[in-house]
Amino acid sequence: MISIIDLKSDKMKTVLLSYLIDNDSPYYLGTTKPSIKPNKQIKMGDDYNTFNLSVGNHCGTHIDAPKHFIDKSKGISDYDIEELIFYQPLVLERPKRSNELLEVKDLSDLDLKGYDCILFRTGFGKYRDENRDKYLTQNPGISLETIQWLRENHKNIRCLGIDSISISRYDDDEYAKKTHLAAFINDDNYGKPLLLIEDLNLTRIPKTKNSLNKLVIVPWNINGIDSAPCNVIATIK
Ligand SMILES: [Zn+2]
Repeated sequence: MISIIDLKSDKMKTVLLSYLIDNDSPYYLGTTKPSIKPNKQIKMGDDYNTFNLSVGNHCGTHIDAPKHFIDKSKGISDYDIEELIFYQPLVLERPKRSNELLEVKDLSDLDLKGYDCILFRTGFGKYRDENRDKYLTQNPGISLETIQWLRENHKNIRCLGIDSISISRYDDDEYAKKTHLAAFINDDNYGKPLLLIEDLNLTRIPKTKNSLNKLVIVPWNINGIDSAPCNVIATIK
């Protein structure tokens, strides 16, 4: 039996890999700006505080499920919480510049056996505050070939994440569609459709090897939507 003392001596730390959502949160261009407004306010003489929230489901750190691009497929609320826990996640240090894509050659020399989730740390997250326009319109992403290669050769991988606003480039809708479809489609040659986490905060994971221990994704629990903002909780060594 694991006692509290055992857990304490484990030297694990729990970190949140999601950004806070506020009125200034980045949102994919073409979607709606978040609006978080006070409704009742004690300071205005009300008895209690309440807020009204209007937040696009692809705002802030969020998870894309297949229904985002394939209408008759699984939306995020169709996933059981057990499917959103990853026991063998990996953070990959892959610095990328504006508009650069993660290519198969960035991964092909690695032994990815056993991993169920890969988070790509491109370093582009620093532009989220430094240069918002650049963060939204010049983001690095993942190439179509890389998604296809991962799904064909590493069927154990169920989720990819990135510290940029999208897995695909901003300026090419057709390519973005192809890339997302490659991630979400059902295909006998592939493993299960992927989940994609975008706008991740990967600064809290140490750069030491195998520092990531376990990952739990907790999406907003809203019925029927394709994707949702989420809390991504990781234990690190
Ligand atoms: Zn999205």
